[in-house]
Amino acid sequence: MKLLEDRIRKDGVVKEGDVLKVDSFLNHQIDIGLYEEIGKEFRKLFPDEDITKILTIEASGIGIACITARYFNVPVVFAKKTATVNIDGEVYSTRIDSFTHKRTYDVIVSKRFINEGDNILIIDDFLANGCAVSGLIEMVQSAGAKVAGVGIVIEKGQQSGGRLLRERGIHVESLAIIESMDAGTGEIIFREQQ
Ligand code: 5GP
Repeated sequence: MKLLEDRIRKDGVVKEGDVLKVDSFLNHQIDIGLYEEIGKEFRKLFPDEDITKILTIEASGIGIACITARYFNVPVVFAKKTATVNIDGEVYSTRIDSFTHKRTYDVIVSKRFINEGDNILIIDDFLANGCAVSGLIEMVQSAGAKVAGVGIVIEKGQQSGGRLLRERGIHVESLAIIESMDAGTGEIIFREQQ
């Protein structure tokens, strides 16, 4: 998505440790016009899927998922990071290693909100090692629901998450895929996509 790549080149900041900061437009201050374009693009990329819900993880995924959901006319469910493993026994849970915070979270979704028969589109801001998305997939599968696909705003192609998910046969669409980035020069190279 050219608009997104241009914005990442203009306002993204490459940090040491393979971290890209996009907090001036994507996940702290938010450019809603850009979110709308992102939502429209996800709708185009998942056109025929009979999607019933969008699932994401707090916090950065929520805004993107909500605007995207307007184009699918479906509800959004977000997985919650929690200190208490099981609120009332009525939750799906998984553990997710956070790439940016270097810690492990217990993550839950109420069993009321994902059901057998649901066809779920997973949305997140970044794909790095794939831990967050894999945890979400695990919870969808525990519910007996189907994963329609995974929509990612920025995939860091130099990390293995995208490759591993695609090797599992999961339909992953990323709006921008970074091939490499250099914290010293700030240079970001994107992978060519059709
Ligand atoms: P994964 O679980 O795929 O390793 O990492 C994905 C999660 O980590 C995303 O939910 C995102 O919030 C965070 N993340 C991973 N890499 C980056 C990055 O370079 N920049 C930012 N801002 N967040 C990242």
